[in-house]
Order: sequence, then C-alpha cells, then structure tokens
Amino acid sequence: MNQHVAMPHAGPEDFGKGQLPPAFWLRSAALFVTEDRRTGAYVPSVDRIGDWLGRFDAWYKDTIGIENTDRLHLMYHRDISLVGDRFLDHVPELARLAEIASGLGVGFSVTVPLDEALQDPQAMRALIGCRAVSTLGVSIDSDLQTPDAALLASILTGIVAAKGHLAFIGDYDAIARLGLLDIPGVDSAQITIHPKSRGAHLHSPDMPVAPCFSRLRIYGDVDGSLYPCLGLVGVPGMALGHLDQPIEDTVLGGAAYPLRIDDLARRGPALTGAPPQDRLTGLPLVCEHHRRALLAVAGDDAGGQG
Ligand code: SF4
Repeated sequence: MNQHVAMPHAGPEDFGKGQLPPAFWLRSAALFVTEDRRTGAYVPSVDRIGDWLGRFDAWYKDTIGIENTDRLHLMYHRDISLVGDRFLDHVPELARLAEIASGLGVGFSVTVPLDEALQDPQAMRALIGCRAVSTLGVSIDSDLQTPDAALLASILTGIVAAKGHLAFIGDYDAIARLGLLDIPGVDSAQITIHPKSRGAHLHSPDMPVAPCFSRLRIYGDVDGSLYPCLGLVGVPGMALGHLDQPIEDTVLGGAAYPLRIDDLARRGPALTGAPPQDRLTGLPLVCEHHRRALLAVAGDDAGGQG
C-alpha cells in the first residue's frame, strides 16, 4: 500500500498538472443521518452538517483560489445530499440546511419513498416548498399499488413548479407502470431516472470499471467520520477526518493518508487475486474487491496488535 504524506496547505493548490490534490476529486458530499432513538433528532444534527458545509465551502474556495477566474469550472457540480429515512418528519431542519447550501451555490438533495410522499402529501408539499432543495429523489417500491393519479400528479408537478429536479430511483417497469413518465407538464428535461435492477440483473460485469473518479465524493458516516467513497465507509484507517475537525487538519487539508486519491481517481486500486464471486454488498465489483482487501489487511493488523 502506498504511503502518501501531502504537504501542508499554503494558498491555492496547483490544479493544473501532476498529482491533483484530493479536493479536486472530492467536491461533493453524501452524508448519512439516523434518528436518535430517544430524541428523534438526526445524528449528526443538521446544524452540525450545516456548520461543516460552511467551513468546507470556505476552505474549498480558498484552496482552489476562486479569485482566479479560469478556475470557475471547479465550482460546478458541487452538491450535498443527505442519506437516511423519514425526511418528511424533519422538513424544518432540512429547509435550514437547504438554505445554507443554496446560499453557497451548492446543490442539495434528499430522497423520499413515493409511498411516504403519498401518505403525507402535506409534509411533501412543505418539503417541495423549500425551494432551496435542488433535487428531490423519489424512490419507488416495485410492489407499490397504483396511487391516486391526481394526488401523484399534484406532488410531482409541484416539484417541477418549484424549479426542482426530479430523480426517480427504482425498477424501470414500476416507474412506467405507475405512470410516473406520463405526468402532464413534467418532461424529460426535469427528470433523471436511476434504474435499480432486481436480483436477476445483478451480474458482475466482465470488465468492471476500475478508475474511481466517478465514485469519489465525501461520504459521511453517522459517527461523523468522512470517507472518500461509499466503498470505504467504515473501513478502519480509511477516514479522511471528522465532521467536527477543522478541514485543514483532515486529509483534504494535507494530513497523511494510506491511499493516493489521485491515483485511485485515474486508475483505480491495484488489486491482486480474483474478484469475489459471492457478493455481500450492492457496491460495484471493483469496490467490493477493494473493500474486502482493505478489511482483510485491517483484520490482520488488529490480530497482530491483539
Ligand atoms: S475502488 Fe476502492 S477507492 Fe475506488 S471507489 Fe471503490 S472502494 Fe472507493
């Protein structure tokens, strides 16, 4: 495994040539939240996430040297999404975070199961009413019965009318069967479809996509640890830092990290041995292979210390 010790950050990074710094690849974030069983509040709290986002944004702009106008492209495609459940019970908190993101020019998205939206259209309308939510994901359960067409249309057209983008996540047949592609006033420019395959389609590709660039973004675990991709969440030693840490003290700011993010982005991990045949996760095959290899090393290390 490569040892990489980045230099401490001192002014704008060189994004032009050579090894690109982690910030080049890690501009967006997906943060897991879970409800505290006693209080019902999200952990990490939405306010902690908002605080981190503000600090991350300021650090990022400083790092790329935003006053240098030929770098404006590095401000594109920055977004933050929360990953969790029961978003309709947390609309006021989400509205606060959405406003912060919008003020910074960062997209904000959450995903709500369609059946929850149909059960609580008032909360869904309130969420839609936070115009700072740039994308609303709607996940579709394949077994969902055909809903009331008028209610469905009012929810979906409400999202579009609020200048939001719609993302349908689910089995394509179910999306079509429920009439989600035939809502008057909603066209393909306002919808992205993320088809979820069912078991029979989950064959491992013969040529797994190795370079990591499209899979890299900051993933936050519920304990506040931050990772460079979904496949590394929870792998010992692979955290970039913590939500409450100054960004400068994390791997983004130059702290040592066992992997070279730039090499991963361009070429993917150097893996030995055959990819696993038994799939334990829904991760891409190359990620499952890499994750298992790192977990095996972490297990060996723990065994050695024990
Ligand atoms: S191959 Fe490894 S580093 Fe690359 S995205 Fe997957 S888990 Fe992350």
